[in-house]
Amino acid sequence: MTEQPTPSVRLRSTLDALPAYAPGRPAAPVEGLTPYKISSNENPFPPLPSVLAAVTRAAGSMNRYPDMGVVALTEALAERLGVPVSHVATGTGSVAVLAQLVAITCDPGDEVVYAWRSFEAYPIVVGLSGAVSVRVPLDADARHDLDAMAAAITDRTRLVVVCSPNNPTGPAVREAELRAFLATVPPDVLVVLDEAYLEFTTDPDVPDALAVYRDHPNVAVLRTFSKAYGLAGLRIGYAVAHEPVATALRKAATPFGVTDLAQVAAVASLEAYDELEVRVKELVAERERVVAALRGQGWSVPEAQGNFVWLPLGEDAVPFAQFCQARALTVRPFAGEGVRCTVAETGANDRLVEIAAEWLSTSGG
Ligand SMILES: *Cc1c(COP(=O)(O)O)cnc(C)c1O
Repeated sequence: MTEQPTPSVRLRSTLDALPAYAPGRPAAPVEGLTPYKISSNENPFPPLPSVLAAVTRAAGSMNRYPDMGVVALTEALAERLGVPVSHVATGTGSVAVLAQLVAITCDPGDEVVYAWRSFEAYPIVVGLSGAVSVRVPLDADARHDLDAMAAAITDRTRLVVVCSPNNPTGPAVREAELRAFLATVPPDVLVVLDEAYLEFTTDPDVPDALAVYRDHPNVAVLRTFSKAYGLAGLRIGYAVAHEPVATALRKAATPFGVTDLAQVAAVASLEAYDELEVRVKELVAERERVVAALRGQGWSVPEAQGNFVWLPLGEDAVPFAQFCQARALTVRPFAGEGVRCTVAETGANDRLVEIAAEWLSTSGG
């Protein structure tokens, strides 16, 4: 083997502090058991026939660049949401739109406040930008502590992310607490409501984020086609934001990032939302069934408003995930904290409930 030259490329020191994203792995095969992967909050239903047909048609033009302005989808979203077209900005998944939000608000050293434990992409996106994460612990019920988040805002704060429902713990913020919080946030600090799981919420006190955005020029709403719409593999999300935020977001987007397939699939999904909603309702009913079963076994499950449930296992998080893996069920452990389990097809949900009972009986819990 020839000797490798010593690497001398200088990489940004901010990379050293970054966690590497831990992707969900497919369940290992276990004889006699259908494997299920419930570690990434994906929609278990296959694409709707109408969406698949639209994507298949569009695939014939993949030698062309997509519409850089994402015009048809942006217009469809604006009409559906009742907002100006100029207030909609798309990106390659809402994680990418969040990165754009950080890019347009934060210089190196500026602060981004968010709750913790929350979405694992937040520290990566913030850290990569050179901004500083300010993590505010969740309260005892695994909810956002909005008073503490308000207190964490400083002169360096440029962005606050409110994840509702919160991934991975499940609760959503309520309208009254959110409005009280926003009344204390300086008007030059942008507050982003990450509503990746909005369609699964059933709590009547969940705020109408678009009404909140209309009342507050410093509020943006972040949504995705990855969860309820079942388009995770196509990478498409969007923000609704006032000027000049929305224009800046479009400037910060990767040119031609959102593919034509994604644009076409998203438009077709908006048109077919009645059909998708039936599936969302099924998943919500399954969520309620799973939560009731787990609580009945004695688990303390926080309020689940997304398409997932949180088991606060603490130091047992990783052992429990291994216990599930040995039974062909892939869940998502957060070492030392808990395990997030996506509500998926009935067979997967039944498996989770069975394994949870078995765990309690074997661990003496
Ligand atoms: C899944 C998820 C998203 C969606 O990410 P995409 O990039 O749109 O796939 C955004 N925010 C949270 C909190 C999520 O859990």
